[in-house]
Amino acid sequence: MSRIRGKDTGPELAVRKALWALRLRYRVHPAIAGRPDIVFAGARVAVFIDGCFWHGCALHGVKPKSNREFWRTKFRKNQSRDRKVTRLLEADGWAVLRYWEHDVKDDPLKVTSQIAKSVRARTRRRYQAKDSAPLSGR
Ligand SMILES: [Zn+2]
Repeated sequence: MSRIRGKDTGPELAVRKALWALRLRYRVHPAIAGRPDIVFAGARVAVFIDGCFWHGCALHGVKPKSNREFWRTKFRKNQSRDRKVTRLLEADGWAVLRYWEHDVKDDPLKVTSQIAKSVRARTRRRYQAKDSAPLSGR
């Protein structure tokens, strides 16, 4: 799969730093569907920070003047790939959080705390499920 996101972009780094400061540990761009930007394997939370240009954000997606058709097709393909990746991951039990680059730039703390909340809630649920599982069986 070709990479359509810039690696380690500013907004992404800002969120990662903040999550690290909250003592949440994650992996970056692991080899699962769509290579999410930030992944919490234990909680099964995958985070994407989509660049406004490549993913065709309605607010900042620049519409290049030349090769209009080429770009239109390209953005549409990227968007349908994004949706497909989300569906694949969700079908596999992941919670998928998608943010626009501009969401992160506007309010990195809000994005970070939403991610942290989701990770913590899902980590708790997993431990509870494990505790209440019967001892026999697998
Ligand atoms: Zn945008």
